Amino acid sequence: DTAILEQIKETIKQKNVELLHLQFVDIEGILKHVTVTAEQLEDVVEGKIMFDGSSIKGFSPINKSDLYLLPDLNTFAVLPWTVEDGYAEARFLCSVTNPDGTLFEGDPRNVLKKTVKRAAEKGFTISVGPELEFFLFKADENGNPTTELHDSGGYFEPSPKDLGERVRLEIYRALKAMGFTIEASHHEVAEGQHEINFKYADALRSADNATTYKWVVKTIASQFGLRATFMPKPVFGINGSGMHVNMSFFKGSENAFFDPADENQLSETAYQFIAGLIENVKSFAAITNPLVNSYKRLVPGYEAPCYIAWSASNRSALIRIPAKKGLATRVELRCPDPSANPYLAFAVIAVAGLDGIERELQAPAPIDEDIFHMTEERRQELGIENLPGSLGAAIQELENGTIGRETLGEHVFSEYVAMKKAEWDSYRTAVHTWEIKNYQAKF
Ligand code: GLN
Ligand code: MG
Ligand code: MG
Ligand code: MG
Repeated sequence: DTAILEQIKETIKQKNVELLHLQFVDIEGILKHVTVTAEQLEDVVEGKIMFDGSSIKGFSPINKSDLYLLPDLNTFAVLPWTVEDGYAEARFLCSVTNPDGTLFEGDPRNVLKKTVKRAAEKGFTISVGPELEFFLFKADENGNPTTELHDSGGYFEPSPKDLGERVRLEIYRALKAMGFTIEASHHEVAEGQHEINFKYADALRSADNATTYKWVVKTIASQFGLRATFMPKPVFGINGSGMHVNMSFFKGSENAFFDPADENQLSETAYQFIAGLIENVKSFAAITNPLVNSYKRLVPGYEAPCYIAWSASNRSALIRIPAKKGLATRVELRCPDPSANPYLAFAVIAVAGLDGIERELQAPAPIDEDIFHMTEERRQELGIENLPGSLGAAIQELENGTIGRETLGEHVFSEYVAMKKAEWDSYRTAVHTWEIKNYQAKF
């Protein structure tokens, strides 16, 4: 750590970093930060910067509100868009600690750290590669997002139809300057929809990256007078935005999911992991698909899953095994969306997989037919179940299951369930424009 710290001090001096943003996420994965001056670096790295936890969603009650920020030195990054001659800003992602220095259990980052430790006790490191899609919308003269999409391009569409190329280029440059390895950038299937892929990493780093990515995408988009959204289904009738989560477990430098002798080149561990996801997905959907709107994406016909099945190649399945094998062998879970808190989502997916491994669950047979076009009878015959159809149903599954409470811990679990119940209730009791349109004149 002293070597990293020396490096940080050097960068601060070289780039004239004046301000430091200390960042963390709330229970929904929304980024927060407090800004201090670079002169306070000593206090910062010793975790002495305090904040009011009672003002952060899902954190602490008002009577125990003093919390501290402990920066992860590996997350230090100069913010490229702040750099001027003789001036710059940088950030750290932080873990939240209690006044006595212990890790605060309400911090989602600490939840994932606990899961990482649990996997390590079984000899596994968790490797995660998420793919976050987003939409670009035009803003009005007040800077508020409109419902007008930024372009009418489609999958892999180049200019002149892809109007997002410039924006993606600047996002790429910013992320690269912050230490990301970018693997691909492209227009997605839907109008105004885009995807930029960064390299997989261990679970904690990957959740940090997903959080940073969302922030950078929104920041750069707004510099172009646009509004980026990670809302899962912003427009009815076209594809929504997913956050496919590619996950594998490593034992040392070996990919524990790879077995060259198997017909799918998957190990017993990989099959058990898949079985664990299938067993637990209904009860963790409220974490990976956290919004009322999430369930409007999980409908047939838009490359998003709605049935619980796995396949070696099928994009209508919940779980797909990408063709790349060897060290790159991984399981792609396709239901999560980018509105999920990545720390909680990766934690609960990993625990679900571990559950399959620990209980030595058997994966069902793969389904290589197009599930979207299967009859209900055929699905029943094959034992293919549905994902929860609404946030309300998903919350119920989360509460009935054990995986959520076990992964999130009592504090985050109860805060999360209470928050989501209130959200569902507010939606459930609201009268929507659809109802007015279909009922007002007729009845
Ligand atoms: N947008 C699709 C989803 O909702 C995924 C499309 C793709 O990446 N091929 O998951
Ligand atoms: Mg992709
Ligand atoms: Mg995609
Ligand atoms: Mg994918």
